[in-house]
Amino acid sequence: MKRREFITGTAAAGALAGAPAVIARRTWRWKMVTTWPKNFPGLGTGAEFLARLIGEMSDGRIRVRVYGAKELVPAFEAFDAVARGTAEMGHGASYYWKGKSEAAQFFAAVPFGFTAQEMNAWLYHGGGLELWREVYAPFGLIPAAAGNTGVQMGGWFNKEIRSLADLKGLKMRIPGLGGEVLRRAGGTPVNLPGGEIFTALQSGAIDATEWVGPYNDLAFGLYKAAKYYYYPGWHEPGTTLECFINRKAFEALPKDLRAIVLNACRVANQDMLAEYTARNNDALRVLVEKHKVALRRFPEPVLERLRELSEQVVAEIADKDPLSRKVYESYRRFRDKVRAWHAISERAYLEARG
Ligand code: CA
Repeated sequence: MKRREFITGTAAAGALAGAPAVIARRTWRWKMVTTWPKNFPGLGTGAEFLARLIGEMSDGRIRVRVYGAKELVPAFEAFDAVARGTAEMGHGASYYWKGKSEAAQFFAAVPFGFTAQEMNAWLYHGGGLELWREVYAPFGLIPAAAGNTGVQMGGWFNKEIRSLADLKGLKMRIPGLGGEVLRRAGGTPVNLPGGEIFTALQSGAIDATEWVGPYNDLAFGLYKAAKYYYYPGWHEPGTTLECFINRKAFEALPKDLRAIVLNACRVANQDMLAEYTARNNDALRVLVEKHKVALRRFPEPVLERLRELSEQVVAEIADKDPLSRKVYESYRRFRDKVRAWHAISERAYLEARG
């Protein structure tokens, strides 16, 4: 593809023709690294959608080229790549960066924590986003919510989970805080990027895995490697996907383009949730009717124990460092309030609807 000039010739051409001088139009070419396989349904396409939006909203003044995992850097190196300026922006999930900051985990998914709607309420109107910016500031990065999967599924298992004893010794791909909860329940959590899950499950390198929900799990063919599909996704009740932007690159943009980048993230955040909600319905039907997947709900005593362990694990993050405590306190205060409200609104309504 032929690359366009950085400065268009409009100003010079206008002056020569005797027309009023037009201000030279600068264009920016940005790279976006991602933690997803290129164009992976929902997540990778969500990153592409964000890149396209930025291009459209800026009328081509910012052109963002998206790189799938491993195309420019491996999935879990995306954060560092944007921090050092190898790429101007990245698309991932903040719980992958727990090694950078423990507090980062609050901005993706917390076991038994916020749903998508609650997370957005906390981020945009409850002080969450300001805290997230504070967490990423030492790395020279600006975070933005840029997608949400909604409630995920509990995962794929080759045996039924009838009691806590069935979690003992279970080697399961489950990242982040959910993984730590599984460890305390006696299992062995493993973290693998999406692209490596199917092979690991099929070869028996892992006994079980969670990934996202029907739409994505169908695309990976996980039903070919495991029989039982459990719900609900207690560990990821509304996972926020993120865009992280190199601060220097961001600040080099004129004011209108900065607003465009951040507001494009906001649109992408909303759009992904809508897409997941719509597509999971169809995919679930295909999994159950065509592929004869056995749907199972985790037994209540199992969920109850996982809930207790989750409380402990999440509360312990607060002890890691002062910023983690600050984020945890904000998260907990907001959760208690929103839980009371949603008990008599969302939950009451969904139960009433049946
Ligand atoms: Ca997941």
